[in-house]
Amino acid sequence: MKYNQFYGYLDKIRQIYGDNLFLNPEIVKKFKGVNYKVNDFDNLSRLKNNISDCFKCPLGKVRNNIVFGDGNPKANLMLVGEAPGEKEDETGEPFVGRAGLLLDKILNSIKLKRESNVFITNVIKCRPQNNRDPLPSEVEKCEPYLTKQIQFIKPKLIVALGRVAGKALLKLDMSLKEMRGKLYEYNTIPLYITYHPAALLRNPNLKIHAWEDFKYIKKFLENNN
Ligand code: URA
Repeated sequence: MKYNQFYGYLDKIRQIYGDNLFLNPEIVKKFKGVNYKVNDFDNLSRLKNNISDCFKCPLGKVRNNIVFGDGNPKANLMLVGEAPGEKEDETGEPFVGRAGLLLDKILNSIKLKRESNVFITNVIKCRPQNNRDPLPSEVEKCEPYLTKQIQFIKPKLIVALGRVAGKALLKLDMSLKEMRGKLYEYNTIPLYITYHPAALLRNPNLKIHAWEDFKYIKKFLENNN
């Protein structure tokens, strides 16, 4: 079962049993070492519900779905892309197109799974028409949602995927080459910036550099567990 489908169910469980969540041992085995509380899911699900009718920017009128994000609400690693694309707008799920498949492969190569080890979202939650870059005004209006997600998830590391996400989080207009290879902070959480998987599809020569980045990310998570 996906986390997204789990959310409504949790509200009912909470009313009956309170804030301790008792999971099937088979499920717990999959997410070993993680001690879930209903609140972990609940805060995110409430936020998701609260923003479901957002019209703070004009993208609200043209979207098919808000793409809130998906994954483990207690993930150590949070991945932040720039904005939903066509497939994501259609399905309401982040990174489900070709770039998403490559992202899954990259995560698997460092022994991480999207559903259990990572939370994936975007800087803005609605698709800009024709996949143009998000406008600064759209980022400004949407960013508080990302800030809240980070506050609830409390990841050990945020990884921005691509220049647009890096620029939005760093508030600095630099090339990706300049942003890569350093550790920054976003609201006190360590932030690293690497290539967007779509860039790796366009230019496979970059994959070797992305691989260096993901080895670094793996090490960082091991050292900060
Ligand atoms: N590109 C992004 O930045 N985010 C998505 O969700 C999909 C593609």
